[in-house]
Amino acid sequence: MMIFTVVYYFLKDGGTMKRIIPYGHGLLSKYVTSNDITIDATCGNGNDTLLLCRLSKHVYGFDIQKQAIQNTESLLTNDGYKNFTLFQKGHEHINDMVKDNVKAIIYNLGYLPGGDTSIISKAESTIESLRNGLTILDKDGLILITLYIGHQGGQEEANAVEQFSSQLPSSTYNVLRYQFINKANAPYVIAIQKTK
Ligand code: SAM
Repeated sequence: MMIFTVVYYFLKDGGTMKRIIPYGHGLLSKYVTSNDITIDATCGNGNDTLLLCRLSKHVYGFDIQKQAIQNTESLLTNDGYKNFTLFQKGHEHINDMVKDNVKAIIYNLGYLPGGDTSIISKAESTIESLRNGLTILDKDGLILITLYIGHQGGQEEANAVEQFSSQLPSSTYNVLRYQFINKANAPYVIAIQKTK
């Protein structure tokens, strides 16, 4: 039974070197407590929002697509969660809509899986959102960004996010990149930890 459990978790999460989504979720689970307010900046099908609902006191969710907001709402409601507010609005408006300080903001960029693949997050609005998001992030807060570079526009967006995040002052922010570098076009995570 013990061996079965270990093998199951290794296959599910990729073992010690976790795949990028479990890696990001692991970071969030260590950071976010039930007293915290959090934001899912790209709700999509609601999987990340669901984790934030489990971990936090309240979650604000953003997506530009009605389908994404509906998918997220039904996932959360079916699981019995009520601690969320969803906006069908671009995440560049993050600090117009959220007046609280937040412990974590999560971005899972690109297109809606199972939806219209031509509707994608874009470099300019993503950077505007990150810039605005930093102004409402708690002093020990975390921004987690999952980047996909295989679709058209993905590499350009990833370059913009890297340029923005790598220039944040190291006196106030720790920024890390997590990626399997021996796979072509492998998606990756950028995590920004505010330290002051
Ligand atoms: N986190 C989601 C999940 O767990 O299922 C996956 C998100 S999906 C990869 C990316 C989403 O970003 C799409 O649903 C898309 O509509 C949304 N999006 C694109 N541009 C956006 C913007 N400016 N503001 C908010 N959401 C945006």
